[in-house]
Amino acid sequence: MAKNILDMLKEGVVLGDGGMIIEARWRGYGTPEVVLESPEALRQIHTDFFRAGSQALQALTWWTSRTQLERRQGWGNKLDEITQSAIRLAKEASGGEAPVGGCLNQTAAGSWTGPFIFDPENAQARDLACAEWDEHIASMVEAGVDFLIPETFSRLDEARLCLSRCKRANVPTMVLMGSGGKSQDGVPIAECARILAGEGADIVGQVCGDLTGMFSTVLEMRQAVDIPVAYQPGGYRRAGPNTTAIREAMIVSGKEMAEYALKAKAEGINYIGACCAAGPEHIRAMAQALGCERYPVA
Ligand SMILES: [Zn+2]
Repeated sequence: MAKNILDMLKEGVVLGDGGMIIEARWRGYGTPEVVLESPEALRQIHTDFFRAGSQALQALTWWTSRTQLERRQGWGNKLDEITQSAIRLAKEASGGEAPVGGCLNQTAAGSWTGPFIFDPENAQARDLACAEWDEHIASMVEAGVDFLIPETFSRLDEARLCLSRCKRANVPTMVLMGSGGKSQDGVPIAECARILAGEGADIVGQVCGDLTGMFSTVLEMRQAVDIPVAYQPGGYRRAGPNTTAIREAMIVSGKEMAEYALKAKAEGINYIGACCAAGPEHIRAMAQALGCERYPVA
């Protein structure tokens, strides 16, 4: 059975993994189709992160709520099948050793930029957003998810509402903002960290930002709270992830990510992972630096 992520964090830094969606794309698979159509390929991606040194794995449940599945693939009725397969494959990759986090995200129902189900001014819309998360969370819990990762939130109010639903499940919750130094609803990131910690987040942090730019705003969160803080930068130098164009963008090297992993550890960051365009080779470089490479490759 996997260790509890919070117990692991008490013992020292935990190395996470990289960006599943772009890694799948680079290997020739679409998401979430890979979950159902090529499960062995998805399991292999998780396996490669684990072999490189990842100590916790993130299941490919990002952007797979009922509405998101329905709008993109007409697959709303496959929510349980996709969610539970995604969790199971991530668990199998480490033989059950690494705790598996289940990702949830903001309720963008069309494209990344909206429209959003959540509307802070509309109680009915808030209820619909909660129903969307509740169903996704229940499916993950049934599959034995070890912790929940509500992530990439631009707005603090939406992240807080999602956290309140995650808290109803009896598993740790890591809330990752994707907003930079200030949330879209105008709250400085340090205050976001304080509020989320005060409302029960077990881990707070940021995801999918620039390696260096996000580092400074994660440190603002670190100084604001006394709970574990996570730093999961993207492996590319761009303002926003574009799965087809990132190959041509400037990819951050594993060496640079390893340097920042050590800097993050020195600053008291607890969970150090990565996001889009960061693959097993990045995690391996970080694992070498942190001294937790699992299967060394010469
Ligand atoms: Zn990302």
